[in-house]
Amino acid sequence: MGWYDNASMPRPCLFCPNPVDSAEHIWSDWILDDLKLATAVRVTIGKAESVWVDNPEVKIECVCRKCNNGWMSALEEANKLAIRAIINDDPCGLTKRDQDKLTRWAVLKTMVLESCNSVRPLFYTQTEREALKNTSSIPARTLVWLGRFSVKAFHAGGTDAWGEIEKTPKASHSCITTFVVGHLVVQVLTLHVFGQFANENVSIGCKMGDWSSSLLDIWPIVGPVRWPPDVSFTATRGVPSNIATVINRWEIGEDIG
Ligand SMILES: [Zn+2]
Repeated sequence: MGWYDNASMPRPCLFCPNPVDSAEHIWSDWILDDLKLATAVRVTIGKAESVWVDNPEVKIECVCRKCNNGWMSALEEANKLAIRAIINDDPCGLTKRDQDKLTRWAVLKTMVLESCNSVRPLFYTQTEREALKNTSSIPARTLVWLGRFSVKAFHAGGTDAWGEIEKTPKASHSCITTFVVGHLVVQVLTLHVFGQFANENVSIGCKMGDWSSSLLDIWPIVGPVRWPPDVSFTATRGVPSNIATVINRWEIGEDIG
């Protein structure tokens, strides 16, 4: 045993060495207000619920007040126009700069959301989290998509997938996070590749689907896009457009809910 007791030390903030000193809503008040009439979407991956948080009003204790009221709140403010429009189903154009800001916001929410699962070790590394805060850097091998859900809803969940490379099992680990906030659907995928394969090009496959009609690629940025995509996700069961098909499209791995 050391001279101090780890267990009594407050947890550090996800993004800096400061202790966690406040419980915060994952979504800010103006988003919660916009979500008042939203219904929760519960989607099953394999045998278990994939939902990390099924109530948008859940509070989390994972960041310090300084981060929360500083850069995190500034990043949200910078995205407010676009997020508010999309949550409320107002079509809008997204410039490359808008996509860059939205990606940083989506990755921030993804990092916060995964900390709601106290059983599973965090996927994103301390270095990746600090780089987002300090240099606005998006983790390497990250892809982000936007879609539209036809009704106003709420969902936040994630899946882990491990990949084999040249017969080495678990040579890659990807974390796929999907959240639905109002009419906004966001999916974030980050791939970690280990050991001798770390610098190789690695691709992982998802289930077949008309993803180019239903999802806009916003990271890596290709060019200006217009939300919504041509095809929307629906709550109708048993059809290809069902929201579960996009949430589950990487269902090649292990549920982490
Ligand atoms: Zn902090």
